[in-house]
Amino acid sequence: MSSKEKTWKEISMAGVCSRSSTGFMTGDWKTYMPTRDLEKCTVCLTCVMLCPEGAIRFRPEMKKIEFDYSFCKGCGICANECPTKAITMKLEQE
Ligand code: SF4
Ligand code: SF4
Repeated sequence: MSSKEKTWKEISMAGVCSRSSTGFMTGDWKTYMPTRDLEKCTVCLTCVMLCPEGAIRFRPEMKKIEFDYSFCKGCGICANECPTKAITMKLEQE
């Protein structure tokens, strides 16, 4: 962070969405989309718990997770928090 950038304590409060994204198709906000490396994923479900849009679903019958790109807004939290670095954010056209 450069010395000119404000900290989170100094910036103005922003508005928050009053409804969950189940009422809004937030998927069209994204520039980057998460992709998962099946070899690295241990199905720990960290990403499922941390996704702010509930856009990662656990499919117990298949023992795997799935991204719901209709709601994934491309924030990258899942990729940052995945303990095995199994998620990579890629440009949508890649
Ligand atoms: S956080 Fe990473 S290892 Fe865990 S379920 Fe998600 S993709 Fe798989
Ligand atoms: S990029 Fe953000 S919104 Fe999309 S699946 Fe990951 S945590 Fe959820």
